[in-house]
Amino acid sequence: MAHNYYDTLGVNKAASKDDIKKAFRNLAHKFHPDKKGGDEKRFKEASEAYSVLSDDKKRAEYDAYGRVFSEGAAPNGGGAPFGAGFEGFDFSDFVKRAGFGGANGMNVEFDLGDMFGDVFGGRSTSSRQATRGRDISIDVELAFPEAVFGAERRVLIAKTALCGTCKGSGGKSEAGEKTCDTCNGKGQVRETRRSFFGSMQSVRPCTACRGKGQIPAEKCATCHGHGVMKKQEEISVRIPAGIEDGEVVRMTGAGEAVAGGTAGDLYIKIHVSKHPLFRKEGANLVTEFPIKLSTALLGGEYALKTLDGDMTVKIPEGITHGEILRVRGKGVPVSGGKRGDLMIKIKIDLPNKLSKSAKHLVEELKKEGI
Ligand SMILES: [Zn+2]
Ligand SMILES: [Zn+2]
Repeated sequence: MAHNYYDTLGVNKAASKDDIKKAFRNLAHKFHPDKKGGDEKRFKEASEAYSVLSDDKKRAEYDAYGRVFSEGAAPNGGGAPFGAGFEGFDFSDFVKRAGFGGANGMNVEFDLGDMFGDVFGGRSTSSRQATRGRDISIDVELAFPEAVFGAERRVLIAKTALCGTCKGSGGKSEAGEKTCDTCNGKGQVRETRRSFFGSMQSVRPCTACRGKGQIPAEKCATCHGHGVMKKQEEISVRIPAGIEDGEVVRMTGAGEAVAGGTAGDLYIKIHVSKHPLFRKEGANLVTEFPIKLSTALLGGEYALKTLDGDMTVKIPEGITHGEILRVRGKGVPVSGGKRGDLMIKIKIDLPNKLSKSAKHLVEELKKEGI
């Protein structure tokens, strides 16, 4: 994989948080763009690496999956695929969820999740497990040009999803709600337990109504009151331009749903097919261009197939084997609408065998000192 945050910071995989912090501080000090001799690119790379490795959750995710493109609230069109600063490290506008508007209940689900968190006074590890749906992991195969320019893919996923009829409430909406008979509308249940210290009273949120005090008057006929059901869901995944083979796109909340909780995440592992002519080196595209000896000596204009379509390349006379012609702005898209370059590596194909007349001509050239 092209990216390695540990290498960027110059620490090993077992580095402690302190080591990581120290390494980042040194690099930030060295490369800060406001400083004389600073290096903005290196500074951004170090910032991106630090933003991931300094966060336990993100670091564990990185160790397991490599670089993860996460989705979230999109800042207005200003995404940067190759790392912004501390706060800006967010690939959100490259990934979007399709069909997850309010209509099919995604918002309702998040509301329920928040409510649950509030009522229960934050989430303990155990309550969190009970109220978060499972993560789903899938693989997506991309053609080389799709990985270069980004792509939108629709994937069909069989999963536990919120019921479309009741939007996860489990109730028939026309029938309204009624007072919860488990807690008599209080939203809490009092429990008396005998313990070593005598009988103990404790109050816990009512599980029947999830602390609301109200329950649906009638069960939803589609999901039989469960609020969730197994179904196939088509999800649109937007894959950012310049993604590398093996990288992962995460879609928060697109995993399995649970009634009254938050959905798990969907992890999309990207596999990129090799291209017969082009390869990617960072933001640049590299290709080899075989030319004849006469072309190398005389120069000229030649047609070249690129990922952007057919192009004319001007070969200067006297070009040598291995020389590179750079076409600016025809590489991999990077931030701010810019693109890397196309690097055309010249390969002079020498004939294995010369005809009699060709041999004669070369001998003439030799006399000319060529
Ligand atoms: Zn339902
Ligand atoms: Zn209740």
